[in-house]
Amino acid sequence: MSAYTYRVRSQPNYPSLKWDVSGARHLLVILDLDTNSIAELCRSPCPGPLEILVRGEATHPALIPFNKANILIHSFASMDTLIVALENALDQTTMGLRLYALGHEDGLWKCNKAGQKVGMSRDEIQLAQASTTGRPVYCVHCGHHMNLIHTNITVCTGCKRHLLVRDHFSRLLGAYMGFQIDAESPGLIPAVEEVFP
Ligand SMILES: [Zn+2]
Repeated sequence: MSAYTYRVRSQPNYPSLKWDVSGARHLLVILDLDTNSIAELCRSPCPGPLEILVRGEATHPALIPFNKANILIHSFASMDTLIVALENALDQTTMGLRLYALGHEDGLWKCNKAGQKVGMSRDEIQLAQASTTGRPVYCVHCGHHMNLIHTNITVCTGCKRHLLVRDHFSRLLGAYMGFQIDAESPGLIPAVEEVFP
């Protein structure tokens, strides 16, 4: 086996979150409560005022470092309500804010989109994947968007085609491209494997 792993250029790379000392204020969005990633981030204190939006309970053990530091945590039961709160928070923002998002890929790119909508640059937004590598997938045939796809092949819930989940990622759509796998030989579907746990 080769140690070389092919990586498509468009495929995002997610370094760990790190406080950006050039920021005047910091907004951390936790989409998935990943204890290790949060512990790693908390090894150094946040260099300025920090606000946290979390999907889940504010009393979750992973958040102990923030609770100890008396940082206000806003908790949300669903992704949708969290993203609305994020958009509202960003609308009132001024220069100097740094946005950090932690969690599954679909949510990360929703946060990125919200940041870009208010003019934040890519340097002011950090995205870190955690808890799952399940992919957001965009069907190139019908435009349907699916989330948390764990297998190499999936059935489009829009047009019912069998799609091959490609590594090609669109930052604009926040999703990997799904192409019909049996377009040339209808019905010939390779084995479905879980490849994005
Ligand atoms: Zn489709």
